[in-house]
Amino acid sequence: MATVYWFRKDLRVQDNEALNAAVTVAHQSSDNSVFTLYGFNTHAFQLLEGIRQHSLAEGVRALQSSLKNQMSILHISNDQELADALVRACAEANSTEVYAMECFDPESIRTQDVVRETLKKNGLELKLVGSAYAVKPGSVRKPDGTNYRVYTPFYKAWVQLADISPKSLPDVGTSFKTLSFGQEVPEPSKTSPIKVIAGEAFALRTFERFKKRALYSYDEMRNRADLSGTSHLSHALAHGEIHPRTLLAQLGDTQAEEVFRKEIAWREFYADVLHHYPHTVSDYYEPRFKKLRYDTGKTAQERFEAWCKGKTGYPMVDAGMRQLLAEGWMHNRVRMIVASFLVKDLHLEWTWGAAHFEAHLSDFDPASNSHGWQWTAGCGTDASPYYRIFNPILQGLKFDPNGDYVRKYVPELQHIKDGSVHEPWELFDGYLNGYPEKIVDHNEERNESLARLEELKTIS
Ligand SMILES: Cc1cc2nc3c(=O)[nH]c(=O)nc-3n(C[C@H](O)[C@H](O)[C@H](O)COP(=O)(O)OP(=O)(O)OC[C@H]3O[C@@H](n4cnc5c(N)ncnc54)[C@H](O)[C@@H]3O)c2cc1C
Repeated sequence: MATVYWFRKDLRVQDNEALNAAVTVAHQSSDNSVFTLYGFNTHAFQLLEGIRQHSLAEGVRALQSSLKNQMSILHISNDQELADALVRACAEANSTEVYAMECFDPESIRTQDVVRETLKKNGLELKLVGSAYAVKPGSVRKPDGTNYRVYTPFYKAWVQLADISPKSLPDVGTSFKTLSFGQEVPEPSKTSPIKVIAGEAFALRTFERFKKRALYSYDEMRNRADLSGTSHLSHALAHGEIHPRTLLAQLGDTQAEEVFRKEIAWREFYADVLHHYPHTVSDYYEPRFKKLRYDTGKTAQERFEAWCKGKTGYPMVDAGMRQLLAEGWMHNRVRMIVASFLVKDLHLEWTWGAAHFEAHLSDFDPASNSHGWQWTAGCGTDASPYYRIFNPILQGLKFDPNGDYVRKYVPELQHIKDGSVHEPWELFDGYLNGYPEKIVDHNEERNESLARLEELKTIS
C-alpha cells in the first residue's frame, strides 16, 4: 500500500521520524510509494509580512527540490479544505493512512484535529509520529507526575530524556510521488528587504559554519549583539528544516557546548509550558499581571508606532527594531531589551509587542515568542521578576560596547564613532543627522513601572 505524507513544520527529508515511518510502511507493502504534499494556506500566506512570505516559500521550494519535485503543493484557505484535499490524496494514492509530524501549538493542534476527524469520517487514519523536539512536549515530568514550571529542574530532567540520535531516511528505494491536483508554490505578494535563503541543506551548512565560527566561544559571545556569536538556526528550527537531534548529537561537554544545549532546551521548555497551558499563547501565564495598569489611547498608540519603526530615541532599542524590519530576525539580548522597553518604559501590554514580532520574525514560533515576551514582561513561567527593568543605555554599552550594532542599523548615528553612540544626547553633534529625541525618560518610566507594581500588590 502506498502512503500519503503531509509535510508541516518539518520541511526536511533527513532526521524526520514521521517521514521515516511513512517510508517504512510503504516499503513493507509491495507498492513502496509515498505521495508527499504540503498544504499552503494561501489566505494566511497573503497576510504575512514580506520576509515571512519569502522564507516560507523558499523553505518549501528547497524541500520540493530535495524531493526532485516529487511533492505536491496544495492551495487551501482553511483547515477543512486541507482535510478534504488529504481525503482526495488518499483516494488517488489508494492509501488508508496519512502520516505527519505531531505539532503542539494551539493553531496546529486545531488543524490536526480537523484533519483527523475528516479522515476518520472517510474511513481513513491520521498517523502522527515524532515532534519538532528532542523530547515530546508533555513528556518531561516531576517525580510526582506533574509538569515543571521552573527551567533549571526541567533542564536536568530533559537532558536525561533527550533523544540525541538522528534518524536517517531509510534507504529502501522509496518512490516519492506527486498527486494529479498539485499547484505551484505561491508567489509572495510582498517584497522582502533581504534575499532569503532557506531549506535543509542551508540549515546544515549554517550549523557547520557555526561550529567553526562561534560554538566554542558561545558561552562568552552569545550576548554580544555586535558579534555573530550565535547559530542563527532559529528560522530552520521553527520551520523544521533541521531537527534539534541533529544539533544535540554533535555537542560535546565543553562549557560553551553545554550553554548551547541549554538554549535548545529553553525552546523545548517553552513548548512544554505551552502544551500544559495552551491559553498562554496569547494570555497571561500569571493572571494577576492582567490587572497591572497599562497605557492605552492615542499617546500609547503613537509610542507603539515609534517602537515598531525603531524611532524611540534609544539607540539600542531602535537598532533592534530596525534589525527586525530589515532582516526578519533580532539578536536574543536585543529582543529582551526591546521587550522590556515596550512593557516597562512604554507601559504597553506584552501582547502588542508579541503580535508585531509574529508579523515580522522569520523564526516566529508561538511558544518561544509568547513565553519570551512573558519572561521579559515578568508574567511568564520562571520569568525575570517584573521589577528587573532593563536600562537600554547600560545594556547597549555592555553588549555593543563599541556601538557597531547601533551604527549598522541606525544610519542617523553613523557619524558617532565609538560607544558614545548609545548616548547621543551627551554629544554636541549627536542629533546632527536627524536621529529622533527620546520619546520617554527611562528613569521616570522606571519609577512609574515600579509604582504600578506596588499598585498591583494592593489589588491582588
Ligand atoms: C521577546 C522574545 C521573543 C522571542 N521570540 C522567538 C520566536 O518567535 N522564535 C524563536 O525561535 N525564538 C524566539 N525567541 C528566543 C531567541 O531570541 C531566539 O531563539 C534566538 O535569538 C535565535 O537566534 P539563534 O538561532 O542565533 O539562537 P542561538 O543562541 O544560536 O540558540 C540556538 C537555538 O536555541 C533556541 N533558543 C535560544 N534562545 C532561546 C530562548 N530564549 N527561548 C527559546 N528558544 C531559544 C532557538 O531555537 C535557537 O535557534 C524570543 C526571545 C524573546 C526575548
